[in-house]
Amino acid sequence: MEAENVRYTVERYEADVPVEEYMEACVDVPTFLECCKQCGNYGKVWSCPSYDFEPEDYWRKYGNLHLIGVKICFPTEMTEKTYKKEELDTLVQETLWAEKKKLSEELMEMEQENPGSVSLSAGSCLNCKQCARLTGEPCRFPDKMRYSIESIGGNVGLTVTKYLKQELIWMEEGRLPEHFILVCGLLS
Ligand code: SF4
Repeated sequence: MEAENVRYTVERYEADVPVEEYMEACVDVPTFLECCKQCGNYGKVWSCPSYDFEPEDYWRKYGNLHLIGVKICFPTEMTEKTYKKEELDTLVQETLWAEKKKLSEELMEMEQENPGSVSLSAGSCLNCKQCARLTGEPCRFPDKMRYSIESIGGNVGLTVTKYLKQELIWMEEGRLPEHFILVCGLLS
């Protein structure tokens, strides 16, 4: 598979978990809210905290969580190289954004096929170049905006190991990791 000039392969992992079990195992809103406060998107993107609702109540509206993990694997010749920061940023954008866009389209189709369901996106909303929240306006596309697992208190790292039986790898400065994993889901 190629995104512009980037070569990578994609593997897919899926699991179904009752929401009650998932909340017990992986949801910790106060802890992940503190992590979100360290992120530049906190309070600046409508898909990210702070919220005018309780994330626990959001989870409890649904019975099942269908998890999807998309693992983006890079060949050795790419992971052995050292990159300048701009090169690395471009590579990450070209791969993650391309796969995230495909996933978002698929999740919207899954919602259509499962009335009453709602998807959880892989990361924060990227529908607009600049989120309307920055200028104090309401979301421009509430029908397209979706929360991510982490934004409502889900532990993505634990989700990946416990339910998708995979491992997250952190990036080292100037290097591409062997893989990235995008994690998203469908609540129904
Ligand atoms: S759709 Fe646009 S305005 Fe709404 S959360 Fe996403 S980026 Fe912000």
